Formats: sequence, structure tokens, C-alpha cells
Amino acid sequence: MVPIDRSRLAALLADEQAAYAAANPRSQELYAAAGNLFGRVPMTWMNKWSGGFPLYLDHARGARITDVDGHTYVDFALGDTAAMAGHSPEATIKAVATRYADQGGATTMLPTADAQWVGAELTARFRMPLWSFSLSATDANRWAIRLARLATGRPKILVFGYSYHGSVDEAFALAGPDGSTISRPGNVAPPVPVDLTTRAAVWNDLASVEAALQHEDVAAILTEPALTNIGIVLPEPGFMAGLRELATRYGALLMIDETHTFSAGWGGATTAWGLEPDIFVIGKSIGGGISCGAYGLSESVAGAVTRHTSSGEADIIDVGGVGGTLAGNALSLAAMRATLGEVLTPEAFERMIALATRFTEGVEASLAEFGLPWSIAQLGARAEYRFVSPAPRTGEEAAAAADDELDAYMHLAMCNRGILMTPFHNMALMCPDTTAEDVDRHTAAFREAVAALRS
Ligand code: PMP
Repeated sequence: MVPIDRSRLAALLADEQAAYAAANPRSQELYAAAGNLFGRVPMTWMNKWSGGFPLYLDHARGARITDVDGHTYVDFALGDTAAMAGHSPEATIKAVATRYADQGGATTMLPTADAQWVGAELTARFRMPLWSFSLSATDANRWAIRLARLATGRPKILVFGYSYHGSVDEAFALAGPDGSTISRPGNVAPPVPVDLTTRAAVWNDLASVEAALQHEDVAAILTEPALTNIGIVLPEPGFMAGLRELATRYGALLMIDETHTFSAGWGGATTAWGLEPDIFVIGKSIGGGISCGAYGLSESVAGAVTRHTSSGEADIIDVGGVGGTLAGNALSLAAMRATLGEVLTPEAFERMIALATRFTEGVEASLAEFGLPWSIAQLGARAEYRFVSPAPRTGEEAAAAADDELDAYMHLAMCNRGILMTPFHNMALMCPDTTAEDVDRHTAAFREAVAALRS
């Protein structure tokens, strides 16, 4: 396949940047005026935007976002999965309004009946019998990691290179030379050297996992069922089963984070692929945009935790380090109940997955037509292309295929044609409101952008 002409790419990117700046004066003005915000944005990662300043949101509904300059976009970013149910779905609006306005009491420190409803629903979907709630997937991971250490009496967490599990200290690690574990580049001031808390392995490489587990100091393997934060890197046949078998053999827990891979189906990859986690983590999407997160425990993990807490050795009730004041609050649970019960239904997943297949086929057709050395991976309702072919097998291979200039060009080219892709990568997610016309609009815009690269 013929490589990309870099000078042509640079010229096209400059054109897209100029078009973006010309089309978005109001967003640019608001950004320039945000002098009291660190980095000019509410959270520093919002500067990950190819046009030099972010679009400012005016309003959003379903699969549509309208910015302050009056442009309406087909939104395939969907809040990097947090809006997988679509923006402000009716059922969630109603539940949130009822709880917050009519009944009142978002943060009373008291449980509501919604919690058991959501717990039972999560059990039906993801198989774990016992649940606790948080307000983010990051916190669910943090607290579940503590419980995994407590349950096993072991200090370390095994993670895969270029995985992402939120701002969790243990997870910013890569496999180094000779079985060592090193810090991931860019890791902000780690509290201790990462090899004190972590063993890193290579995705799709069971030998690297076994070598790490042989030290018998790993409390849990923390993983997604597919890497989704360095493009999508799918597991090869037997890899997930191998992780389960190795975890059991070496006395580690298998902790599965389905915050993104929930896109695989109504019961996530865990149910779609028959995985058997000991601990399960989810967040983002299940509250329909209201802060939420959850972790599920097997009976055996819950029993081990309870043995340590009832002996007084560890405290999960007061200030022992698990929980947050607003975790499990009534508003968050009302949102989860409505979103899971009425929006992210089995029928919705069926439609969303069919649309992601249509999206994938559209991209594949253009890649073939223009002979581009790229690949696309689909995981249920999400699909993502990467600038390398064949598709990467490991996080390291996927990281090596990063191309900032191409990334910026594709994002801006889509944005200037009314399509939003996830800023951090080239991910497209379908929500219950996404239509076949939305997907076809992307297919046409994508074709136009890659045709320009080749002409
Ligand atoms: N787990 C995974 C797999 C994620 O991709 C992310 C965020 N992208 C998180 C956890 C953390 O989610 P949050 O930032 O909402 O806490």
C-alpha cells in the first residue's frame, strides 16, 4: 500500500484548521476570555482538540450536539461513552426531575429503593451478585483495587501496557525490559515508583502475564475485555480464557473494567463472551449523563473482604479509604434505574450494533478504494480506525501507530463536515438515537477526507 504524502497532509490540515477557525468565532471568543480557568478549560483534558480551541456546547439531545456558533453535529463521540444512552434521554430526564425537583433529596446519606433495583439489574446483566456504587469509573476502580488487596493480602495490580482505567495510580505502567515494570510516559508525579504497586504485562501475550503472576504478589489482574483507549485492540481467541485460568492458578483475582466495552452488548463483553470476573467495574454510560459508577463483587471476594472488616482489621464504613460522600446518592441511582431500565435495552443494543457494523463497512470500503494502510476494529456498538494495517495486537503496537498529524486532520475534517469523533482517538459510538442516515453521512465525509489525501 502507498504511504500517505506528508506534505499533502500538512497542506490539507492547514486548510481544515483555517476553515474551523473561520466557522467558530463564538467558541474562539469564549476560549480567549476564559482567563480564570487553568488551561482556559474546565478540565485540562478539554484542550485535546485539534482546532486550537474547543467547540463550546450550546445544547445536545439524542445523537446531536449544537455549539454556540449554531452548528449542529452528528455526535459519534458521545462523551467518550458517558452519553452512550444519547444526550438527555426522556426516561432519564423524567427520573432525574422527579428525584431532584418533585421528591427532593439528592444527597441525604440515606438509601433509596432504586439501589436494589439497579443492583438486581446489574446482576442480571453482568453476573456479579453484589454491588456498590461510586460517582465515576475511576473511583469504582480505586475502591475495588483496595478491596482486592484486602481480600488477597497481596500488594500489586497487574495491568496491560497502554490500558487506561481512569486516574488510577497503579495503572500508569508499561512492561519494561527483563520483566521490569516502568512508568508510562507523561505519568504526573506518581506517589511512589510504579513497580512498587504494579506489574505490567503485554496484551494478547499470556506468557508475559504468567511471568508477572509467578511472583505471587499480584492481588488482581485489572483489564478491559479489549483495550479501548489506544484504539480498540481486540483479544485474540483464548486470551480472555487464558487470563481467567492464570488468575485462578496463581491466586490473583480477575477484575474486569467494562466502562467502555459495555458497547459489546446488553450484558457487556462479560455476558457476550462468557467471561468470569471476580470483580467487575463500570461507570460513565449507565447514568445517562448523571455521575455514576459501580463495582460488582463475587460472593467469594465479598466474603474475604467481610472477614477482614468484621475482625476490625479494615474499615469500609467510616474513613478506611473506600467510598465518597455522594457515592450511591439518590439522584445518581434514579438516573441509573431509568437509563438501564428504559434506554439501554436489549432492542437498543441490537440497533446500535447493526449501525456500528454499517459504520465499519463504510470505512472499510473507503480504505479499500483508496488503498490506505489503516484498519478498523468494531466492538459491538463502537468502531474505531487506526493508522496501521493489519490491526495492532498489543497496546505497544497500537501506540507505535499513533500519528498526531493524521489524527488532527481526520478530526477536523469530520468536524468541519458536521461530525464529531472522540477527541482522544478515532472512535465512533452509536446511541439509541443514531440513525442509518447519520452513519451514511460519516461514510461520505470519511470518503471525501481520505480521497483528498490521495488525490
Ligand atoms: N475505565 C475505562 C476503561 C475508561 O476508559 C475510563 C475513562 N476513559 C475510566 C475507567 C475512567 O472513567 P472516568 O474518567 O469517568 O472516571
